[in-house]
Amino acid sequence: MPDYAVTLTHEAGTCPVYDSKAMKEFQELSEKREEAAKKLKVRIISKWSPTRIHQTYWIIEAPSREVAEEYFKAVGLSIWNKVEVQEVKLV
Ligand SMILES: [Zn+2]
Repeated sequence: MPDYAVTLTHEAGTCPVYDSKAMKEFQELSEKREEAAKKLKVRIISKWSPTRIHQTYWIIEAPSREVAEEYFKAVGLSIWNKVEVQEVKLV
């Protein structure tokens, strides 16, 4: 299965860390991640975040780019993040 590097970016103004309502919504949607990954056959390999920027880098395995994008919609992360998906290979 192809691997994808996914960059999630949001502004400080839309960061759930500073908004308790958004944080609650974020946590509720987080509970759906396992189920969505299983359903879409997506495997999360790793997730990294710089300490000072509102960005997260994910390495995932997915059947296609479209499915990868669908996963981020299904778990609500695309609501407040710009999602960029790029196919990558191990070098
Ligand atoms: Zn943030």
